[in-house]
Amino acid sequence: MVSRRELKKLAEQNGTPLFVVDHDQLRKNYATFKKYLPRVQAYYAVKANSDPAIVKTFYEAGCSFDVASMPEFKIVYQYIKDMPDKQRQDWIWDKIIYANPIKANETLQELNPYKPLVTYDNYEEIRKIKKYAPQAGLALRLKVPNTGAMVELSSKFGAAPGEAVDMILAADKVGLTVEGLSFHVGSQTTNFDNYVAALNLASNIFREAQGRGYNKMFLLDIGGGFPAPYDDGVRPFRELARTINRELDRLFPKKIQILAEPGRFLVATAATAVSKIIGKAVRDGKLCYYIDDGVYHTFSGVIFDHCHYHFKSFKRRGPTQVCSVFGPTCDALDVVSLVEQLPPDLKLGDLLYSENIGAYSHASSTYFNGFPPAKVIHINA
Ligand SMILES: *Cc1c(COP(=O)(O)O)cnc(C)c1O
Repeated sequence: MVSRRELKKLAEQNGTPLFVVDHDQLRKNYATFKKYLPRVQAYYAVKANSDPAIVKTFYEAGCSFDVASMPEFKIVYQYIKDMPDKQRQDWIWDKIIYANPIKANETLQELNPYKPLVTYDNYEEIRKIKKYAPQAGLALRLKVPNTGAMVELSSKFGAAPGEAVDMILAADKVGLTVEGLSFHVGSQTTNFDNYVAALNLASNIFREAQGRGYNKMFLLDIGGGFPAPYDDGVRPFRELARTINRELDRLFPKKIQILAEPGRFLVATAATAVSKIIGKAVRDGKLCYYIDDGVYHTFSGVIFDHCHYHFKSFKRRGPTQVCSVFGPTCDALDVVSLVEQLPPDLKLGDLLYSENIGAYSHASSTYFNGFPPAKVIHINA
């Protein structure tokens, strides 16, 4: 992690709000993922933080990518422009999965020449893919339990287990190839049973498909959801990995390739936001600090990601009290936190910082109310 001294220096040099990305931490997170899940190929979910410098660092570390839009696809694809055709084709499945189950016709048309690997979870999508991207390979996204995940996804995506094999056979019937299955247990999943349930469910679908004569599936994509260590309540990654490895070995023969789409786990701990106190007031007896970053910007995760970020002050000693921290816009929604332990004697111009803010934060910043997104600083890139 970036030291407090360095953060302070960067803020003095660059002004605030600042979003500091530590690329050593990105590499470390990727190495941890590989170390504990050696059978699993990691496809970084670019939507967690689509900064091209982050994609580059993961690319150089050997990572693959989960993209969900054409702009994300192009950020990754730029690395293979100059490859010979043949190599490029191997590369594309090895390096990119287009994992948004719902794709516009125009997107499919644009994807088709790349012969991509794409996910789907409904019959309408089979018709669209057949018409607009017949060269694509398919992975069926399954609906799996998301119990206890911080961000639930199962109400929006996934074929019900009961209709999964019908949907595989329907794609096969029109001449498309279903290469395997995918799922997502929900983001920031601290309930490790979700993975166990999803892996068992996927294994049953593999078996049922085989029983009904479909033998072309060779990959399993176990999605994202791997929790970032935001607080002590999150059990260590190696414990989750042990559970997953055990189920993979028990349920899936070695010839099945295992993919995963970690987003949050790879980037959350690699960034720190630095903001400045620009206002101070007491409202209903409670001390309120106003800062130059907020929920329309780096702290967008408070709204979109159901995430709670904490603030630290550079002042180490002295008493603290419960304070509110508000963003700079005129919207009453712009509340970053109502319960922060901060010193009561911070002054206008003093800095605050928030750690572990690399995922689903800067990526969804807006220009609302005329306030631009935080400046991004890359260190150890
Ligand atoms: C968002 C998303 C991910 C990443 O999820 P994390 O919880 O950040 O790991 C992976 N796969 C798909 C399909 C997604 O939509």
